[in-house]
Amino acid sequence: MTATPSSPRSLNVDLGERSYPIHVAPGLLDDPQSLRPYLAGRQVMIVTNETVAPLYLERLKGGLEDDLDVREVILPDGEHTKTLASVERIWDALLAAGFNRRCTLVALGGGVIGDMVGYAAACYQRGVAFIQVPTTLLSQVDSSVGGKTGVNHPRGKNMIGAFWQPRAVLIDTGTLTSLPDRELSAGLAEVIKYGLIRDAAFLDWLEANMGELLDRDADLLSEAILRSCAIKAEVVAADETEQGARAMLNLGHTFGHAIEAHQGYGKWLHGEAVGAGMLMAAMLSRQLGWLSEADVARVARIIAAAGLPMAAPASMDADAFLERMRLDKKNIDDRIRLVLLNALGEACIHDETPPAQLRSFLDDYPR
Ligand code: NAD
Ligand code: MG
Repeated sequence: MTATPSSPRSLNVDLGERSYPIHVAPGLLDDPQSLRPYLAGRQVMIVTNETVAPLYLERLKGGLEDDLDVREVILPDGEHTKTLASVERIWDALLAAGFNRRCTLVALGGGVIGDMVGYAAACYQRGVAFIQVPTTLLSQVDSSVGGKTGVNHPRGKNMIGAFWQPRAVLIDTGTLTSLPDRELSAGLAEVIKYGLIRDAAFLDWLEANMGELLDRDADLLSEAILRSCAIKAEVVAADETEQGARAMLNLGHTFGHAIEAHQGYGKWLHGEAVGAGMLMAAMLSRQLGWLSEADVARVARIIAAAGLPMAAPASMDADAFLERMRLDKKNIDDRIRLVLLNALGEACIHDETPPAQLRSFLDDYPR
């Protein structure tokens, strides 16, 4: 099967009455029919940012304005804009336009836009419809699916938020042609994650195709996105609000978040920190006797092949890691909970690494 503009490949996120489809195809943005079935009424608010608007906003609006009331909000770009103040700008625009409970918000952009628009939709008049149109690889394989929405607080990332599922996720793979190389690699970190936690055959496939994925082969990217979304959809359907198994989606993230927070958000991209973090998780799994030396070498090779960092930042000692890791939302009481690997393709959640072993692992990890 290959994707063509006229035949999106689709899958369903199975959440009972909150179920929704994910459609993947090049050119979806240009087809007004792709959005229409998911609109709650005639009022449509597209929210995007200053980088994405000149690239894709007019294309998305084309063919909608004749019979619908289409408005837009264009926010500045960057993680630092993921604040309640930006969400207030969205609410202000909705109220100024007189939009009611049957309006639909459309998030056109990466994960920053998607998270904010989802949160704005969750709260506006106690909840209105929204549609995700993700334009980064990371948002296409991860943040647009699963209903986690929110903003950052000065004291912590993603600290204010809600679970609020979109009506649909529309992935136009053509948008990846304009994505900077570093952002592509960052998205591939999350793609590799799905193979590592749940699908060894997908990991084999990624090893065989990483070069073409980096060259942005359209069919292979579509395939990688669909398989990633299918895995995320399965995990989310089993545990929508992260009472248990959904935490496995955080492979590499406890180490990764510590790196991002310590370095200052934006210096390392999230996916880059997750890349290094997944190798750290694999090496710790090796120390615990669960992975072989050859398994760890495979993880290192695919992370390097995706253009992701493997070493931890030179400026971070074990204390710097542990201090941040103790604040992780996954922890229960004061035990550090980590997602580790029982095997390649099989994640486990583990909170019994003895503190002294974790510290000596962190001391010895390559910088
Ligand atoms: P991002 O939204 O900041 O996008 C990265 C950069 O790419 C930005 O400068 C953006 O303007 C630009 N961009 C977007 N699409 C483009 C395109 N097609 N061509 C050129 N440039 C483009 O970052 P991201 O990596 O997409 O998302 C990161 C955010 O997602 C973080 O805030 C993170 O917390 C969140 N996130 C949420 C979830 C979730 O489950 N809700 C999961 C993972 C990450
Ligand atoms: Mg992530």
